[in-house]
Amino acid sequence: MKLHNKILLGLVLGAACGVGAHFLAKDAGWLAWFNNNVANPVGQVFLRMLLMVVVPLVFASITLGVAGLGDLRRVGRVGARTISYFFLSTALSAALGLTLVNLVKPGAGMDPETRQELYAAYQSDAAGLQARAEVGFGIRTFVNIVPRNPVEAAANMDMLGVIFFALMCGAALTLIPEQRARPMIQVLESLGDIVIKIIDFAMKLAPYGVFGLIFYTTSRFGWDVLRQLGLYVVVVVLGLFIHATVGLSALVSIFGRLNPLVFWRKARASVITAFSTSSSNATLPTNIAVAEQELRIPSQIAGFVLPLGATMNMNGTSLYEGVTVLFLAQVFGVDLNLGQQLIVVLLSVLMAIGAAGVPGGSLPLIMIVLATVGVPPESIAIILGVDRILDMCRTTLNVSGDLTAAVYVARVEAGWKPEMAVAGEGTPPPLRSAAS
Ligand code: ASP
Repeated sequence: MKLHNKILLGLVLGAACGVGAHFLAKDAGWLAWFNNNVANPVGQVFLRMLLMVVVPLVFASITLGVAGLGDLRRVGRVGARTISYFFLSTALSAALGLTLVNLVKPGAGMDPETRQELYAAYQSDAAGLQARAEVGFGIRTFVNIVPRNPVEAAANMDMLGVIFFALMCGAALTLIPEQRARPMIQVLESLGDIVIKIIDFAMKLAPYGVFGLIFYTTSRFGWDVLRQLGLYVVVVVLGLFIHATVGLSALVSIFGRLNPLVFWRKARASVITAFSTSSSNATLPTNIAVAEQELRIPSQIAGFVLPLGATMNMNGTSLYEGVTVLFLAQVFGVDLNLGQQLIVVLLSVLMAIGAAGVPGGSLPLIMIVLATVGVPPESIAIILGVDRILDMCRTTLNVSGDLTAAVYVARVEAGWKPEMAVAGEGTPPPLRSAAS
């Protein structure tokens, strides 16, 4: 059986067994034992194998990407195109979410008793998030992108800091004499190859890791909460589904000239990894492998666009933020006029850029948007019970959105052609496929 089919099997079996175990034996001792000693540890080992390579991968691929693009003006142009595309797709996604939430109004009918019940159950989790939300958004946000110490940025998984340092290293490599730059480039190329090999090892574990992660989540998930928040969940999932099947598919076909069916078929490994890990960072290694080996995107483009995307481009998160803010405004009877809703779209895009690519990374930032438009930030407690399941869905879209950006930038900047993805030809992959 091909590896991606095995991973898919892990996902389906994990979900089916997890949901089954929840309904048959929610409080049984063996289930807790199995979760603590088998499912979660196996899932965590897989997750950590992927996370372990993120910092070296981002550093090597961005530095090489910038150095490979050669001239700094070209780097600027590729960067500008990439970031403009991020803005366009994220704003489209947030606007779609807002339109749906205005049409369906999932928050208008919630009775005060349910509201109170949910609020009381998740209040303490919300208080924990509040502390992280107090950082705010302002000029310091931009200053903080420049790390004081790159090793500290790496140790804290401050990806914007690592990216900034890598951009500077790549730029500097293009400006020093070639014979001085070459040894460093060779070291980074080796590092890149080593990382791909480690991802290969991790992907061997993927079917079991994915099973463990999904089983652990679904068997412990509060399915009752889903009923109370049903309409809200439907709006988020429907929005994400429409953005994937219509929005991203249209973007990949218009900007990348690639048949969306081919795109989604090739993107399978990324979609499954994102869904089971709920983390753009953890999915980055798989996403780079998929871009290079399935879509045959040149490595300097994939290595530049995808790490930036994992941190800055979150289509699913921006839609989710817009829907959540409006939903909570409806629950609390706060009327937001068109101008305020446009502010929510803008803030959702900005916050999606600022959100960390980790599970629940966007939650503290949603609290900032809530406070800005006059909805009590602690009200986020109401939706925390269903966050994990929605996180799985929105991360899938975040990661697929990054791939569509890579397709577009590769086509206009690196002579990549859709036929290369279809025929599986083009730039020779750096190493054997980790994703197929
Ligand atoms: N989990 C998301 C990601 O990693 C971020 C979020 O929306 O919480 O892309």
